[in-house]
Amino acid sequence: MTATFSAPKGTYDLLPPESEAFLAVREAMAAPLRRAGYGYIETPTFEHTALFERGVGESTDVVSKEMYSFTTRGGDNLSLKPEGTAGVVRAVVQHRLYAGQLPVKLWYSGSYYRYERPQAGRYRHFSQVGAEALGVDDPALDAEIVSLGAQIYRDLGLTQVRLLLNSLGDAECRPVYRARLVEFLSGLDLDAETRKRIEINPLRVLDDKRPEVVAQVGDAPVMADSLCDDCKAHYDLVRGYLADLGVTWEETPRLVRGLDYYTRTTFEFVHDGLGSQSAVGGGGRYDGLSEQVGGPQLPGVGWALGVDRTVLALKAESVEITAGAGCEVFAVPLGAAAKQCLVPVVADLRRRGVAADLAYGDRGLKGAMKAADRSGASIAIVVGERDLEAGVAQVKDLGTGGQEPVALDELLETIEKRLR
Ligand code: AMP
Repeated sequence: MTATFSAPKGTYDLLPPESEAFLAVREAMAAPLRRAGYGYIETPTFEHTALFERGVGESTDVVSKEMYSFTTRGGDNLSLKPEGTAGVVRAVVQHRLYAGQLPVKLWYSGSYYRYERPQAGRYRHFSQVGAEALGVDDPALDAEIVSLGAQIYRDLGLTQVRLLLNSLGDAECRPVYRARLVEFLSGLDLDAETRKRIEINPLRVLDDKRPEVVAQVGDAPVMADSLCDDCKAHYDLVRGYLADLGVTWEETPRLVRGLDYYTRTTFEFVHDGLGSQSAVGGGGRYDGLSEQVGGPQLPGVGWALGVDRTVLALKAESVEITAGAGCEVFAVPLGAAAKQCLVPVVADLRRRGVAADLAYGDRGLKGAMKAADRSGASIAIVVGERDLEAGVAQVKDLGTGGQEPVALDELLETIEKRLR
């Protein structure tokens, strides 16, 4: 007996018609980026593991525990990409894109892989659209990135997306803050694992949801009180631009992100209808990442929006999103000669930009009309032997049920006129 297969745990198949919403979301995320001067970039699905495991900075679960890593037959250590930014920065450095006009603005769309515990809205294979702007340290660019994200959710018709904003400081003030935080956390009554976490990534402890931890970290120092003058000035300017752009946000001094490379401006878009996996997108500035992957000093800011979760958010708010690719005209041939006549008609309609399909499989009239109804088309073209003899096709309005014969040589024009 042959084994039957199902998709691996934590993954799902995207099937029509729901897949249309997915495509429409992707398009809604990409279009504003193109208009804002972002060029499309595609990097490989896998990269050298060391690109993600840089061995500097803080360690996060995404990189230390959740990567799909493997050794190839040739002995290379590779990982499926858990996020998009590292690969993009690697490509910018490798191809010296920074030697041209700055900022280098790029957008991407793809699949990402994390070995996470699957739950509603959290998958092991998921999809993001991302934007990155590199080479210019300008607070107005942070504001552009953030506001593009906010605009995308607004344009999709979502009303329950909130923007959480924070600054994580830079190489000057972050270590000072980190030391203060470690000192504070070390004095608390915490279990061994959390104590270990203090050494690896103390900011993460602030994000711990367990009540016994929450109760103790209420008075922990926050980054906002420790920002150096440059970081403070930068953050003030970002907020000023955002206000000018009409973006609203919530100051979130404890916002911590799942990746280690963020500096200064950091943000997350959350949706209130999604339960525990509420983040629909997020990003921030990552000055220093380029140097970490062997490149020149190259400041950067960007975000990644989760396509899967944005589709869930639309569902949660009952927002219908139309992708438009549905069938408009359905052709029903009754007999071989009628099929010979209608096959080219369908092709001609498609060439004219009409979404058209045909009842394949020589079904009888009843079955074929059922297929026509299911297709979502508004018009059916029915041709039988007698119609062929008379040189006509029956054009049926599937909404009203009304039907009239149309001369075959006027068929394409008539249909087009009816649709537009
Ligand atoms: P991150 O790179 O962790 O900041 O993720 C950016 C966005 O990608 C999140 O806000 C989510 O919308 C989405 N995302 C991250 N991880 C997953 C996952 N395991 N399953 C589905 N979506 C995810």
